[in-house]
Amino acid sequence: MSKGNIGVTSDNIFPVIKKFLYSDHEIFLRELISNAVDATQKLKTLSTAGAFKGELVDVRVRVRIDKDKKTLTVSDHGIGMTAEEVDKYINQIAFSGAEEFVNQYKDKAEAIIGHFGLGFYSAFMVADKVEIFSQSYDENAKAVHWSCEGNPEYQMEETIKAERGTDVVLHINDEFSQYLEDATIEGLLKKYCKFLPVEIAFGMKKEWKDGKQVETGEENIVNNTTPAWTKKPADLKDEDYKAFYRELYPMQFDEPLFHIHLNVDYPFHLTGILYFPKIKNNLDVHRNKIQLYCNQVFVTDEVSNIVPEYLTLLHGVIDSPDIPLNVSRSYLQSDNNVKKISSHITKKVADKLAELYKNDRADFEKKWDDIKLFIQFGMLSDEKFYDRAIGFALMKNVDKQYFTLDEYKAKVKDAQTDKNGDLILLYAQDADACYTYIQRAKEKGYDVLLMDGELDVHAMSQFEQKAMGDGEEEKHALRFVRVDSDVIENLIVKEDKAAVNLTTEEEDALRYSFEGLLPKNDKTNYVVSLENVSADALPVFLTQNEWMRRMKEMSAHQQGMSFYGQMPDSYNLVVNIAHPKVQALLAEIKQATGNSLDELNQQVEVLRKEQEAQKDKKDEPKEGEEKRDLTKEIAALREQIKQHYEGKAKENDKVSQLLDIAFLASGLLKGEALAKFVNRSVELL
Ligand code: ADP
Repeated sequence: MSKGNIGVTSDNIFPVIKKFLYSDHEIFLRELISNAVDATQKLKTLSTAGAFKGELVDVRVRVRIDKDKKTLTVSDHGIGMTAEEVDKYINQIAFSGAEEFVNQYKDKAEAIIGHFGLGFYSAFMVADKVEIFSQSYDENAKAVHWSCEGNPEYQMEETIKAERGTDVVLHINDEFSQYLEDATIEGLLKKYCKFLPVEIAFGMKKEWKDGKQVETGEENIVNNTTPAWTKKPADLKDEDYKAFYRELYPMQFDEPLFHIHLNVDYPFHLTGILYFPKIKNNLDVHRNKIQLYCNQVFVTDEVSNIVPEYLTLLHGVIDSPDIPLNVSRSYLQSDNNVKKISSHITKKVADKLAELYKNDRADFEKKWDDIKLFIQFGMLSDEKFYDRAIGFALMKNVDKQYFTLDEYKAKVKDAQTDKNGDLILLYAQDADACYTYIQRAKEKGYDVLLMDGELDVHAMSQFEQKAMGDGEEEKHALRFVRVDSDVIENLIVKEDKAAVNLTTEEEDALRYSFEGLLPKNDKTNYVVSLENVSADALPVFLTQNEWMRRMKEMSAHQQGMSFYGQMPDSYNLVVNIAHPKVQALLAEIKQATGNSLDELNQQVEVLRKEQEAQKDKKDEPKEGEEKRDLTKEIAALREQIKQHYEGKAKENDKVSQLLDIAFLASGLLKGEALAKFVNRSVELL
């Protein structure tokens, strides 16, 4: 028997292992099983090359728990190790600058383990004592027994081991007794070993018999050694891809929309299958993640540094031995291979989408609503993806027809270009709520898009910006306007409108009548405007400023824009003075007023003139005389005029009726107001 000190330059690695690797204890199992798999595959390679002449029977890796002895054993029938090899690979740990390394990699178990080849030593995170029993494939070599109790001293002796290969026995620390539970180990094997290339056996297969689970004579193999992504696309059918999806995400009941099989040899190695899931809502989005493997060993499902963020919405697996897995995250982002991988995946995804679009447009349209969120996210966050996707990104109109941006522009160009040559694209976010507006637009021969997606507002802004262009050719603006944000005549202005031709008294009469009866609250602002719209538009209607509304909508998604979110909603109440009903109402109010306001109006007029005169001469008031505040006096008189019209408006049912119709057309008439409207309508009949 020999004794020795593990070759670590700085004091020893055990405190490091125990202290800093606590967050990720469980990976010890992955490390040991990976070693066992490697040893098995090496033997297979030697056998293929003829260097190993023995038979390759039973090459399973086995994991066993002995609850009485409190041990967990990982055994393989791989190449095994001679005493010299144990000494070389296990005892002489190339390990220097422990201090520096500890500081650098605090909390990063993965980094420490991989970077310093401490895979095997991770066993000491959970075990007080670790033993190795190994018999090399070289039949001349004697079997070796190595043991170590978590301090820099190890023991090594010759032993007898009947079978080729290695058993690593962990004497589990009491604190980590969960690793002696079948369920825990089963769970870890599922997580890390599901697709390892060598069969991993854990216990016996169980089956239900007479209402009880009983063990069968067959070993329980936890992994699929040839997962779909390791096969050739030509050998797989659509059904196989779907089956693999279910294997990856047993809890996901929706089928994926389609898949992309990745297979790259140059300039890096990468295989994998990505799936487009049905994204139903935001909560769903990150539940199933892309899994990253390194030669079929599960590494992580945090791939955000390896693929662009919008691609993390996809599901599936990526397997690459070329991704440096054990370095810090910020390093990963600047790694050249990772950058190439990322842009390659982006290109592949875009190519696949373009192909689907080209080969089966009808099917692509069917899937569009489900993939739209993803594609818009990509277009908004990645210029290159935008350039690729603009050719197949679709827009849907309220009649459920789909168009690319170019197709759509061509379709509406003639009808929807305004007097300045700008192309106006009309849209609705809620086709039912905007029904009247949509109908009016259609009557004019216009088309209306349905923009009800979460990212549509952002996507529209992006289209508008891109249309501004920077090219040589003169480009006209492209503008999206919500169909209910104004009367159709104002949305797409074809010619200059006739000016509003009212006297001040008439303006007052209409403005104050409506203002007086508008609902008053903090959350909504209304501004009355008198416009010469057209005789066939609604007499009174609400519009909302497109820009302000969009800002508010975007602020819901974006940090730093909450200012807009806090602003009250603001509506324009447009009184269409070209409408006969409005003209009739005006006549009625004028009649009801008679000349009762003449005196007030004259007083205002006099004060205004005085104010005008004062502006010209700047002299101070004479001594003893107080300076008159004319503005205030005028305001007081105007307030009386306002009160008058408010009173008249309350006496005239038509004002309320017209207002209610305006609110109703915008889907804003609710509750008590709606009930009142219904009653009043019945009475007016
Ligand atoms: P790594 O696997 O990153 O090289 P480890 O500390 O896990 O680092 O293992 C060190 C070396 O010990 C391995 O490279 C291998 O040569 C040897 N080894 C570990 N486990 C086994 C095993 N089960 N069978 C044969 N050799 C092994």
